[in-house]
Amino acid sequence: MSEPAAGRAFLTNLYPRIVKPHGAAGVPPNLPDYQQARSAFTWEAARALLDGLPGGRGLNIAHEAVDRHALGSRADREALRWIGRAGGQRILTYRDLKAATNRFANALRSLGVQEGDSVFVLAGRIPELYIAVLGGLKAKCVVSPLFSAFGPEPLATRLGIGEGRVLVTTEPLYRRKVAALRPSLPKLEHVILVADEGDAPTEVPGTLDWRQLLEPQSPDFVIPPTAPEDRALLHFTSGTTGRPKGAIHVHEAVVTHHITGRYALDLHDDDIFWCTADPGWVTGTSYGIIAPLTNGVTSVVAEAEFDSATWYGILQRERVTVWYTAPTAIRMMMKLGIDAVRGFDLSSLRFLASVGEPLNPEAVVWGQQAFGRPFHDNWWQTETGGIMIANFVAMDVKPGSMGKPLPGIEAAIVQHNTDGSVTPIDQPMVEGELALKAGWPSMMRGYLNEEERYRKCFIGPWYLTGDLAMCDSDGYYWFVGRADDVIKSSGHLIGPFEVESALMEHPAVAEAGVIGKPDPMAGEIVKAFVALNPGFSPSEALRRELLGHARKRLGAVVAPKEIDFSPGLPRTRSGKIMRRLLKAREFGLPEGDLSTLESDVR
Ligand code: ATP
Ligand code: MG
Repeated sequence: MSEPAAGRAFLTNLYPRIVKPHGAAGVPPNLPDYQQARSAFTWEAARALLDGLPGGRGLNIAHEAVDRHALGSRADREALRWIGRAGGQRILTYRDLKAATNRFANALRSLGVQEGDSVFVLAGRIPELYIAVLGGLKAKCVVSPLFSAFGPEPLATRLGIGEGRVLVTTEPLYRRKVAALRPSLPKLEHVILVADEGDAPTEVPGTLDWRQLLEPQSPDFVIPPTAPEDRALLHFTSGTTGRPKGAIHVHEAVVTHHITGRYALDLHDDDIFWCTADPGWVTGTSYGIIAPLTNGVTSVVAEAEFDSATWYGILQRERVTVWYTAPTAIRMMMKLGIDAVRGFDLSSLRFLASVGEPLNPEAVVWGQQAFGRPFHDNWWQTETGGIMIANFVAMDVKPGSMGKPLPGIEAAIVQHNTDGSVTPIDQPMVEGELALKAGWPSMMRGYLNEEERYRKCFIGPWYLTGDLAMCDSDGYYWFVGRADDVIKSSGHLIGPFEVESALMEHPAVAEAGVIGKPDPMAGEIVKAFVALNPGFSPSEALRRELLGHARKRLGAVVAPKEIDFSPGLPRTRSGKIMRRLLKAREFGLPEGDLSTLESDVR
């Protein structure tokens, strides 16, 4: 695993470094000097930025996110600015959010729901989802938001293994997906249905109506003492590499959420922040709910799915300043072209960030052309609970790099030794597994019911991420691929990201997925699946052109030997390309767990 990477000059030199205007006028960055912040950082100091429960009764995420602002000078500031699918708005100030979450916590108590019980939420991005998550945390339940697009099967599995006692959902979702499962979910005692605003209360047998349940409740609630190690959230991974795992997080995670909101997303008091992720995956909870609120900013919640005109309209109308999105959305915007951006006034945008998948260098630079700012890539996982590696606002951006570790996080590229131990690789630009020194506040505390799988993530002091990466001599990290996806061809290790980035540079290519295909001579050869931009259609000539383009950019060893055209690529609901599915289909193998598969374009 520790050979110098083949043809690595390609990715790192594709675009010049974007030099940041250090000390320029405008909003002073929260982290003006990376090195200095790193050496001065302690988790105790990060923890001290939070209040803790009054009377020294511990640390509760919902208190930090809601109550401490509602009790102070930010009480009447907009906390959530909800934009409905049809364009309607609902605003919840911190004061409103405190009362609403208190009502929900009291409602849980009135049902006999105890500390430690599981509360699941299955809904689109509606205000009640946010109220249920935060109210559930106040009541010290273990909260688990689920994708509203999940079918009955993945819901049954998650509710079953999570032993959900309470489910908050809507009537249509309940009827379509949950009602038939009830007999198989004996632990699920209370189902609470949210009706549309203005609609009559729901009257579905075996369920409760949200409004009728909450209305009589008191808007006051005292959060019980909460130990930082008390369980708070259960989040399922995206299922990109296999069966999704349920990662358990505790209330102390809020320390990471808060500090990464400040440092990696550069949240300031008067920001209007928009995280486009759904709370059904961890970004939508850590950064769509918790981090913006602990930082006291206004968080835009848009119910609608991606549509470029709708999104640009939201950015313009809401005067969004900090925008956190994902490569899949950025690639869709790129596909539609820069002209689509031109009609909008997006001058309020100050900071753009992306997470979830490798961000092609081309997309970083496109951000600059389209919005006047580059996209700042950052890296983390469901298991890490919060951003671990980031392009910080005051730091130069090297397009294609994930950035540098958060102050307080020690990262390394490690090699696996034959005796089962791991050793950090000191040489720059040598690929190995990305590892993090265990012990940060938002590190998962377990995989639900999978003790063995959890234990295997740790070797010595290191948490092993399952991703391969490299670190350059300036300390920037470069994603290579998931350990499962890396291709071994004629003795070389080839990361799919680099090959995909080279293909995406070609004007015809909208997206690319690259796999290793067994080959008697080379071990594996590189095979690419590409989806084309509008105006291009598959042809033998284009295939040859793309093969030639890739060979020129990457060299013969790394370039794909085969290219298939595909109308789209299989991806998870959180937008990640499922290379394991490309492989399974190519080789006629079983497709495995498809519970998180979004589109099924073959
Ligand atoms: P599963 O663990 O079930 O296979 P998953 O790993 O996709 O699914 P998540 O926890 O949602 O589930 O995603 C984390 C993974 O996403 C990382 O391990 C990494 O492979 C990828 N990822 C996230 N951010 C980045 C990034 N900035 N660059 C490259 N890859 C990223
Ligand atoms: Mg994973």
